[in-house]
Amino acid sequence: RGGQAEKEIPFAKPNSLTKVFAVASGKGGVGKSSVTVNLAAAMAAQGHKVGVVDADIYGHSVPRMLGASDFPTKVEDMIIPPTAHDIKVISVGMFTQGNTPVVWRGPMLHRALQQFLSDVYWGDLDVLLMDLPPGTGDIAISVAQLLPTAELLVVTTPQQAAAEVAERAGSITAQTHQRVAGVIENMSYYEHAGERVHLFGEGGGQTVADALGRTLGTDIPLLGQIPLDTRLREGSDAGRPLILTDPGAEAARIIESIAETL
Ligand code: ADP
Repeated sequence: RGGQAEKEIPFAKPNSLTKVFAVASGKGGVGKSSVTVNLAAAMAAQGHKVGVVDADIYGHSVPRMLGASDFPTKVEDMIIPPTAHDIKVISVGMFTQGNTPVVWRGPMLHRALQQFLSDVYWGDLDVLLMDLPPGTGDIAISVAQLLPTAELLVVTTPQQAAAEVAERAGSITAQTHQRVAGVIENMSYYEHAGERVHLFGEGGGQTVADALGRTLGTDIPLLGQIPLDTRLREGSDAGRPLILTDPGAEAARIIESIAETL
């Protein structure tokens, strides 16, 4: 289209040393973005060079959760991403006016993502995390095309109904031939008076891992079960991931251990 050559994406090169993870979920509100920013913060705290692409075009919340209030700058042809808590972050929200909703069509989303990957000066990253929109939409397919080596992380709640849609989001990899790094169960329980209260039921994460394993014909691990913690939400609202504000919290410890295994 227009005869323009597609720009090279450094992370797509076979010899790229950057590990790319695309964080997916079946539906919204399961904590996909919260998990993404806390994983990023945990990896950065573990000494890795980390970047985050907020590809959740419709619900872009990553900059707020990381407290990245600066805008990207331009140097010649490159876009310099702002940094927050040692994490480089780029979001479609940085390129829209105020809180204008994004009503782009598939091909434009694809081009935006392409630009985030090829025109942003990321430097030498160890890890790039991409917060995908919920579901199996255009962006998930674009990621598979642009970054075939990206591995998928599937976030779900313990609820069986949520698990079924999460499984659909994960099983797209059967067609795209991407690897699924594992399943993360969020909002697994709430600790009250020393007891675990299972507000959203139980078992969803394991159900998704088992079902994906059957579909893909390989073992898919359940990487961790993150409890509900009001401090996690407060930290996200204040632009400070729980990993940094309350590293001793059970939820933070579980996210740290997931970050270590990836
Ligand atoms: P998604 O990206 O899946 O739409 P978000 O990460 O935006 O979900 O999370 C939805 C809401 O739930 C946010 O207000 C977030 O702060 C909150 N939240 C997510 N995970 C937890 C958790 N483990 N404990 C407490 N609140 C959480």
